[in-house]
Amino acid sequence: MITAERKPFGEIADMVQDAKKLLILGCGSCVTVCMAGGEKEVAMLASAMRLANRKAGRKADIREATIERQCDREWFDKVAEDIEWADAVLSMACGVGAQFCGEAFEGKRVVPALNTKFYGATERQGVWVERCAGCGKCVLADFGGVCPIARCSKSLLNGPCGGSQDGKCEVDPDRLDCGWQLIHDRMKLLGLLDRLEAVQPLKDWSAGGDGGPGRIVREDATL
Ligand code: SF4
Ligand code: SF4
Repeated sequence: MITAERKPFGEIADMVQDAKKLLILGCGSCVTVCMAGGEKEVAMLASAMRLANRKAGRKADIREATIERQCDREWFDKVAEDIEWADAVLSMACGVGAQFCGEAFEGKRVVPALNTKFYGATERQGVWVERCAGCGKCVLADFGGVCPIARCSKSLLNGPCGGSQDGKCEVDPDRLDCGWQLIHDRMKLLGLLDRLEAVQPLKDWSAGGDGGPGRIVREDATL
C-alpha cells in the first residue's frame, strides 16, 4: 500500500485558514490502513480545526466525508455536492488522490493534509515499513526476494558498500538493517549464494519514476 503521515496541524491550518467552507475528505483505502487519512482521522482533524477556528475567532463551515478511494473518479460522485459547495477541499488521501480530486473538479482548490511516504507493508500494529520503490522493472528474482533498491539506502545492485557493519546500514545503524546483509542471508537460505557473483547490468531507471510520469494501458481492459 501507499503509506502516509498527517502533516503537522499548524501547517494544515495555515493552508486553509482563508476557507469559509471547508470539506475534509478522507480516503478509505491505503491511508485508512496506515491510520493517516481514514474516517477516524477525518473526524479528529475536523474537531481540531473547529476548535482552532473558534479560538482564533474565525467563522468557517466544515464538512467531513470519506470515500472508498480518491484515485478512482467514480467514488467522487458520492461527494460531488460537498466538493462543489466547498471553497477548499482538504484531501486526506495520498498525493495521488489529492491530485486526482483536483483533476476531477477543475477549478477547485484541493490541498493535501498528508505527506505521502512510500510503498510499504504493516510490520506490526502501528509500524509500516518500506519494501518497494516502484522502479518499474522488478529484479526481486535476482536477489532472493529482497529489494536492493528499497532496502539498501544507496540502492546498490552489485553488493554492499564499505559501510555495512554487523548487519547494520551506515546511514543509520540504529534504525536500518543493511539491505545487502538481508539479501546475502536470504540467498544463503535459498542455496543461491553463488548467483550473487553475477554482475548486474546498469539498471534502466526510465522504467520507473526517472522516465517521467508513468502510464499503464491495458487494451483488453479499456472501453
Ligand atoms: S525491484 Fe523495483 S519493483 Fe521490485 S520491489 Fe524493488 S523497487 Fe519494487
Ligand atoms: S550499509 Fe548496506 S544498506 Fe547501507 S548503503 Fe551500504 S550496502 Fe546499502
